[in-house]
Amino acid sequence: MTEQFKLAIIGAGPIGLACALAAQKAGIDYVILEKGCLVNSLYNYPANMTFFSTSERLEIGGVPFVSVNNKPTRAEALEYYRRVTVAHHLNVRLFETVNKIEQKDNLFSIETSKKHYIVHQIIIAIGFYDLPYTINVPGENLPKVTHYYKDPHHYAFQKVLIVGAQNSAADAALETWRKGAEVTMVIRKQEIGQRVKYWVRPDIVNRIEEGSIKAYYNSSIVAIHPHTVELDTPEGPVTIENDWVIAMTGYQPNLGFLEKIGIQLSDDAQRKPQFNPDTHESNVKGIYLAGVICGGMDTHALFIENSREHAEKIMASIVG
Ligand SMILES: Cc1cc2nc3c(=O)[nH]c(=O)nc-3n(C[C@H](O)[C@H](O)[C@H](O)COP(=O)(O)OP(=O)(O)OC[C@H]3O[C@@H](n4cnc5c(N)ncnc54)[C@H](O)[C@@H]3O)c2cc1C
Repeated sequence: MTEQFKLAIIGAGPIGLACALAAQKAGIDYVILEKGCLVNSLYNYPANMTFFSTSERLEIGGVPFVSVNNKPTRAEALEYYRRVTVAHHLNVRLFETVNKIEQKDNLFSIETSKKHYIVHQIIIAIGFYDLPYTINVPGENLPKVTHYYKDPHHYAFQKVLIVGAQNSAADAALETWRKGAEVTMVIRKQEIGQRVKYWVRPDIVNRIEEGSIKAYYNSSIVAIHPHTVELDTPEGPVTIENDWVIAMTGYQPNLGFLEKIGIQLSDDAQRKPQFNPDTHESNVKGIYLAGVICGGMDTHALFIENSREHAEKIMASIVG
């Protein structure tokens, strides 16, 4: 069945929702298409995660985000974005993946996992949390290996290997250790990342120095087996007993999705999608980019705090 709208917003993350609120305010007929649940990326963040932003800096559409904590939790953020969606009756289609976009004269044809749409403009706000960086070692596909850390209870009294040295790796190591897991970290460089949240870094460094958490610095994984993992360390090869591997190796944006519809990327390592910074319109007329996807491979450049303004810029251009 084909439906027609003026505007399709791909991705119901915080920035996709901000675009929908701005479209609604401008009286633009729109639909949001989301492949997972509402704010799917935030839903897949660690269960006990705390944002580094204060709540007002995560607000969209001028809707207050009330939190008793200085920095809100994941659970509070999920509830906030859900309540915004309900209160504003946002037109969101969940568990509907956009698979194909084609331009036909001044219109766009969108094929999803459920329907077909014809629209005049498209906003792509697909984030960067769906494609983890793989370790590319034998055994990475074993069921005991995950790139998405959720709840520490699952790892209680287990032998856990954490891969990585940034925020998510530090959180996963500390939380699982505090639930009674025997935690080992394998870190490519010689220290815990300097970007680790200032209230977390001393904790993880002290746990390692006191020997509660074992860390192999300047090391990497050679192979993963059902009950062991082989490591390459400065002291030579090491084999450790292991039940679970939590690979906090980061995520990359789905730039292939953009290239398929003709959006050009910069030819440097950042592979930044090309768009007009004042309107966020890409080199494909009628297709706009919003949110962290605008940063290309530099997934730390943009986040909720500094991407919210994309919505107003885009709507000013569309209305204009
Ligand atoms: C652990 C962690 C902590 C963070 N803390 C903060 C913080 O404190 N403050 C802050 O400002 N930022 C923070 N961020 C960053 C922030 O979460 C992201 O910048 C934010 O999610 C970006 O919003 P977005 O709407 O651009 O993308 P996303 O939230 O990633 O949303 C993109 C949506 O698009 C959907 N999608 C993708 N492809 C398709 C498709 N083909 N069809 C349909 N739907 C699709 C996805 O399912 C997803 O729901 C944190 C990130 C992490 C990982």
